[in-house]
Amino acid sequence: MICEHEVGLHPLPPRTAGCEECLKTGSRWVHLRLCLTCGHVGCCDSSPGKHATKHFHSTTHPVMASYERGERWAWCYIDEAELDVPPEAEPLLRD
Ligand SMILES: [Zn+2]
Ligand SMILES: [Zn+2]
Ligand SMILES: [Zn+2]
Repeated sequence: MICEHEVGLHPLPPRTAGCEECLKTGSRWVHLRLCLTCGHVGCCDSSPGKHATKHFHSTTHPVMASYERGERWAWCYIDEAELDVPPEAEPLLRD
């Protein structure tokens, strides 16, 4: 599925190699998510910090993609639906 929030996205390269907030505080994360609006890397909801979801609530950037090796899926927080990775974001994700 493709949602309206994916239309017109211009994904930016990841700003950090790990969760931006966890790296600052020395916390650990479980999985990483990449914001397809601004390149913010945050941790998933199984991580103590839940920084990817917090990033959505503070910025309203709607679509993130998995930033885990070999994973290819995206998620729209507004539609609460799994999405295909937009082709422009594909080269930014990890092999
Ligand atoms: Zn959407
Ligand atoms: Zn985090
Ligand atoms: Zn963002």
